[in-house]
This record gives sequence, structure tokens and C-alpha cells, in this order.
Amino acid sequence: MRLIHTIKDMQALSRMLGAGKKTIGLVPTMGALHEGHLSLVRRSKDENDITVLSIFVNPTQFGPAEDFKQYPRNVEGDLAKLSPYNVDAVFLPGAEDMYPEGFSTSVNIGGIGEILCGASRPGHFNGVATVVAKLFNIVMPHRAYFGQKDFQQTVVIKKLAEDLSFDINIIVCPTVREPDGLAMSSRNGYLNIEERNGAAVLYKALKLGEDLILSKGMSDVSYVKSEMKNLINAEPLARIDYAEIVNVRNLETVEKIETPVAICIAVKVGRTRLIDNMIVEKK
Ligand code: AMP
Repeated sequence: MRLIHTIKDMQALSRMLGAGKKTIGLVPTMGALHEGHLSLVRRSKDENDITVLSIFVNPTQFGPAEDFKQYPRNVEGDLAKLSPYNVDAVFLPGAEDMYPEGFSTSVNIGGIGEILCGASRPGHFNGVATVVAKLFNIVMPHRAYFGQKDFQQTVVIKKLAEDLSFDINIIVCPTVREPDGLAMSSRNGYLNIEERNGAAVLYKALKLGEDLILSKGMSDVSYVKSEMKNLINAEPLARIDYAEIVNVRNLETVEKIETPVAICIAVKVGRTRLIDNMIVEKK
């Protein structure tokens, strides 16, 4: 497992591997690795000759009042979790290398980055799109792996790749969950015990929505949303940011439920903002 700290070294390695006709899979992360991240690593290892995992807590995707400073950082622990996987390279760039003095170019992903999470996190998806575009240019992967956990992000990245003609296959991997259904997230570590128990309400709400749509045949968006919201609001520690039922391709809210649709929710549990989603599709 090579540790690579500079853009120059990463590009040199990728060029060499590419010249040798090796396929490269990239797993971009912000570290504090958990089973969700490791599932992306396994998939990349299955599908590529070489797997590169990047760890970079990207400052430009955090708002001024967000948790950039306190975001969990534990490179040693991350490397220990990666060691059984024999990842070929871990790319750990410094912020001064990614955003040197005078850096001024950014990707504006447009309206798709301003809805759902983008509405309460202005600029977040432009920060994501910019850093992912840089990672694509640095690692030059054939495939890049993202989790469905961050569903809006996957739609944004697919659009980025298409609009800017990155010849990279964007692969979306299923959400990995705790036994009670809570989606794994580096931010779950912020939750105290009561909040951690309360956080299970996100998955319960998604399952309720899915059940109303698939088993009960409900197509009335406001009915399904209000049932889900009632369930979440019954949890005293939870405060809804949004609960929407959207088109799976463009994330626009639907007027009538015709599957497939995505149920997307963001809920603050205590002071921690959690997101989750479910794609509801007739089998
Ligand atoms: P992050 O480190 O939170 O930026 O996440 C890095 C990548 O891992 C993103 O593509 C996430 O969507 C993905 N990821 C995070 N949590 C999960 C999860 N529970 N299941 C699957 N993928 C995940």
C-alpha cells in the first residue's frame, strides 16, 4: 500500500499504470473510514487492476458554520482498516497542494446543486464537484466509486462527468447500514447514546414511505410525505430539514408517485445533520 502525499507523485504513478494498460478504480473519501467506505473498496478491487483510495477533508464543501474543524480525522486508524484490502495506493494530499495560494477556479454544477441538501448547504455541491474534478484529473481513473448514501452527490457527479466529458465510469454502490438500519456515516460518531437510538427514525421513515408506495399502492405525494414526517416528528430529538419524493434522474420533486422514485430525507438529530434515501422501485 503506497502512501502518496502530492499531486505530482499521484499523477506520475497513474500515468505509469495507465501506460501499462492497468485499469484504475478511484474511491474518494474524507477518511474516518467505516464499512460503507470499505464496500466501495471491495467493489473497486473486484472491477479494476489497481485501486486508489483518496482521503481529503475538502474545505471547500463545508459552509462557514459547518463541522470542517471537528470532522473526524484518523489517518492511522484508516490505514489499519485498509491494510487487509491491499489497496494499491492511498492518496493523502495536503490542502496547500490542492488549493495553493491564488487558486480561483471552481466547477458550478448549477441548479441540481441548489435543491435538497444544496438548499441548506449553499456552495456545498460546487465544492464537491470541484474537488472531484481535481481528483479525476490527478488519479485519472477508469472507474470511480460513490455510495448511494449520498444520493444527490451521485447525481451531481454523474452530471459533472457527463458535462465535462470525463471518460470515467461512475459506479454507485448500495448504502451500508447498521443493524437497526441507520446508514453508516463518519458523522454518526457525533451522536450520544440517546441521539444514536433516535437516529434510527430516518430508516424507519424511509421504510414507511416505501411500504405506503409499494404495499399500499399510495401515489399521493403529500400523504406519503406527511405520514413520514409524523413518524420523524414523534422522535423528540429529531428535527426535519427536508423529506422529499423526487425523480431519480434529475431530483425534481414529483407531483404523483410513479416508481421509480427516490425518497430523500435530511434530519437533524440533536446537533448532527444526517441524510438518507431510498429508491423505491417495483420489483
Ligand atoms: P465520505 O467520506 O463521507 O465523503 O464518503 C466517501 C464515499 O463513501 C462517498 O461516495 C459516500 O457516499 C460513501 N459512503 C459513505 N457512507 C456510506 C454508506 N453507509 N454506504 C455506502 N457508501 C457510503
